[in-house]
Amino acid sequence: MEDAAAPRHSRAPGGTLQRGRGDAQGFPVTRTAAGVARSARAARDLAVLDARVSGCRACPRLVSWREEVARVRRASFRDQDYWGRPVPGLGPADARIAVVGLAPAAHGGNRTGRVFTGDRSGDWIFAALWRAGLASQPTSTHVGDGLELTGVRVAAAVRCAPPDNAPTPAERDTCNPWLARELALLPRLRVVVVLGGFGWTAMWPVLAGAGYALPRPRPAFGHGAEVTLSGPRGELTVLGSYHVSQQNTFTGRLTEPMLDAVLSRATELAAGEAGQPGSGHPVGGGPRP
Ligand code: SF4
Repeated sequence: MEDAAAPRHSRAPGGTLQRGRGDAQGFPVTRTAAGVARSARAARDLAVLDARVSGCRACPRLVSWREEVARVRRASFRDQDYWGRPVPGLGPADARIAVVGLAPAAHGGNRTGRVFTGDRSGDWIFAALWRAGLASQPTSTHVGDGLELTGVRVAAAVRCAPPDNAPTPAERDTCNPWLARELALLPRLRVVVVLGGFGWTAMWPVLAGAGYALPRPRPAFGHGAEVTLSGPRGELTVLGSYHVSQQNTFTGRLTEPMLDAVLSRATELAAGEAGQPGSGHPVGGGPRP
């Protein structure tokens, strides 16, 4: 069942405060897995999709966790209003590359309302996107900090912060339609960079649903794994990368050169024509080695 509570105010995905629009904070509410599938399918553009994602309450465990974290807050962020909602994707509709992570961090995206923003994982991925010429600046600290992406859309397989960074398979499956629709709304998409094994597993049903023929058995996840699929829009390449979690970056399992190499491959594959956004040509000042 889907419903809408009384309007009060909202902070739209991307961050501006809006008043008098939509439900309790301006977004349509979705409460069931079937509602997610239906609502995602019917979203006509990314703005509508982002608003619907932001109002989703289909996973009770995650709703409860994200809201509790937002209520209690970390001491160092006590003076901030947490987003406390699902976190929509970020980046333009003409993106040729999508980067898909696991889920928002409790005090990162769940706090700032922007994917990968406000935590160490975000520091890594946005710095790497900047070095690849896909981001206007190497940092992503809060909505309104001036960050713009070119040629790339960044999203998560699961949109709500999970306890212990561990969504259940059922929660992953419930959330999948949001990602499926998001990828479908990127008509120029050529490459999907998947961060981590969880996202890798989540990606196959999404791509099967989008009409791509999947190899059997499913390709194993690994850093630098590369699979090219044929589908309704031609070829799509899926690249694997270790996740930018602190578990990987602190231990040296994932280094900056390793991440840069995957993004370099992504921009190379995305380059249908020289100078296309997402083709790896510097946009907004990112250095190229
Ligand atoms: S994880 Fe996804 S499906 Fe579940 S409540 Fe959050 S946005 Fe909705």
